[in-house]
Amino acid sequence: METIVVGGFGVNCSVCAGTDGQALVIDPGEDLELIRDHLQEQGLSVAAYLLTHGHCDHVSALAALAEAIPAPILMHPEDQAWAFTEVNSMPPFYTTPQQPSAPISALTEGESYEFAGLTFSIIHTPGHTPGGVCIHFAADEVLITGDTLFAGSVGRTDLPGGNSRTLTASLKKLKALPDATRIYPGHGPVSTIGQEKKTNYFMQGD
Ligand SMILES: [Zn+2]
Ligand SMILES: [Zn+2]
Repeated sequence: METIVVGGFGVNCSVCAGTDGQALVIDPGEDLELIRDHLQEQGLSVAAYLLTHGHCDHVSALAALAEAIPAPILMHPEDQAWAFTEVNSMPPFYTTPQQPSAPISALTEGESYEFAGLTFSIIHTPGHTPGGVCIHFAADEVLITGDTLFAGSVGRTDLPGGNSRTLTASLKKLKALPDATRIYPGHGPVSTIGQEKKTNYFMQGD
């Protein structure tokens, strides 16, 4: 598991290496060259592109990267709906993210997926965005949390489609995971579910 920090908002683009020199690329938000160079250095091809949610800082290098290195693209349908439209531009930092030319498949809650010999399931965690998900590698006790849960904080809910009550319900799902689960947020340092339950205000109580 390697994290490449991309773009002006410091998005953690995760590269999870599996079997046969294949990897998952999660949230290729910007800096296509950095991601491509990392894959090349490690001798990795891409088994799939996964998106934790649709925000421009997480998806803006997707189309060009998937053009250069084709692989299936998966994202929750509720964020696919707006991610490549102008509501997702953030001038002067981001223009409207380019729609990939290949079709995008759905990430669906409760379903299990396998790419590159890595098995993961999807926990739908709306609140920061309607189609936000956490990607759970249960066997590895790893959770990619996107902008739902950070070390010490949570994603903002004041952007279009955000909802603080919905986010609270989503966090409740995450609290049910084993304490040893290592979390890899969309921004900032890694942590664990146990640590966040102890110290993160938003993970306290019911
Ligand atoms: Zn976001
Ligand atoms: Zn973000």
